[in-house]
Amino acid sequence: MKITLTQQKKAKPDFTKLGFGKYFTDHMLIMDYKDGAWCEPEIVPYGSFSLDPSTCVLHYGQGIFEGLKAYKNAEGKITMFRPYDNFKRMNRSAERLCMPTIDVDKMVEWLKELILVDEEWIPTAPSTALYIRPTMVATDAMLGVHPGHTYRFFIILSPVGSYYPNGLQPTKILVEKEYVRAPLGGTGEAKCMGNYAASLLAGDIANKKGYEQVLWLDSNEHKYVEEVGAMNMFFVFDGVVKTPALVGSILPGITRDSVLQILRAEGKPVEECRISVDEIVAMNEAGKLDEAFGSGTAAVISPVGVLNIAGEDKIINNFEMGPITSYLYDKLTGIQYGRYEDTFGWVVKVN
Ligand SMILES: *Cc1c(COP(=O)(O)O)cnc(C)c1O
Repeated sequence: MKITLTQQKKAKPDFTKLGFGKYFTDHMLIMDYKDGAWCEPEIVPYGSFSLDPSTCVLHYGQGIFEGLKAYKNAEGKITMFRPYDNFKRMNRSAERLCMPTIDVDKMVEWLKELILVDEEWIPTAPSTALYIRPTMVATDAMLGVHPGHTYRFFIILSPVGSYYPNGLQPTKILVEKEYVRAPLGGTGEAKCMGNYAASLLAGDIANKKGYEQVLWLDSNEHKYVEEVGAMNMFFVFDGVVKTPALVGSILPGITRDSVLQILRAEGKPVEECRISVDEIVAMNEAGKLDEAFGSGTAAVISPVGVLNIAGEDKIINNFEMGPITSYLYDKLTGIQYGRYEDTFGWVVKVN
């Protein structure tokens, strides 16, 4: 792969105040698609792209992305968590949006090279990581509505701090009754740009009411739980862990799958099923809604302390993180950071 190193490295940010997705490393990977094939990828200095104002993605949103993390331990060993699964999912998103697929194995190798070029940007403090954002956009300069013929794939890297600077805090979530994230047959299963644009208004209204996120319900009946913002949802009903089944409108999260695999390997009761808001209310009233939490790459596991249902705050587990939630957070981050043995084959070495 051709690598062009930057002539001028950027000043590093304060690694104790990284936040999420605010700083980017010195290099990026780019790879263009034209005449029916991908060109060779290149690592180049991080910088702006110039796009014609008529570029497809700017008008019709033909764009997809991924999100995963790399970790560096005190001995300088660098690992990634389930990168093959991210690029496989990216290929499924690509097919849904009429975009070309990529070679998953080669892409993981190229990504390793990019990470090594910017190795000094990987933070090592507890709960920090290097967030990796692969993206693909249609680059044809034309206003006709049809799939592009040219694409740009790129990967940018961002050192990120702990999602919870003050420790794991339960979140307050508003159950959204009016707006929906994705209908059946829509693009809910794909990690595509438009899904996020469509979610902003409800999120903004919820934020103004004092809730951090929106819990989306199904688009037909507004009755069944789908997911939250960029997280899949789990409920613990009377000791049984339940998550909405992947019906087509829900993003198949890799953290979700990891949670299910961990629980199943230990013989814990888990179910992928339909979960109605009525069931949540009834279980809560019966004192059997033990815990609720979200799962996603950014936060890993996020306890839910309040669910606002039809204007009423339902407090879960006294607004405290429950035992299964905290067990899963410890187990997953333990595998990711190398504190625990990876018996699932999820951790991929970079150096
Ligand atoms: C990315 C994402 C998730 C979480 O997926 P992970 O692979 O666990 O990070 C959940 N929901 C939506 C809508 C997402 O975009």
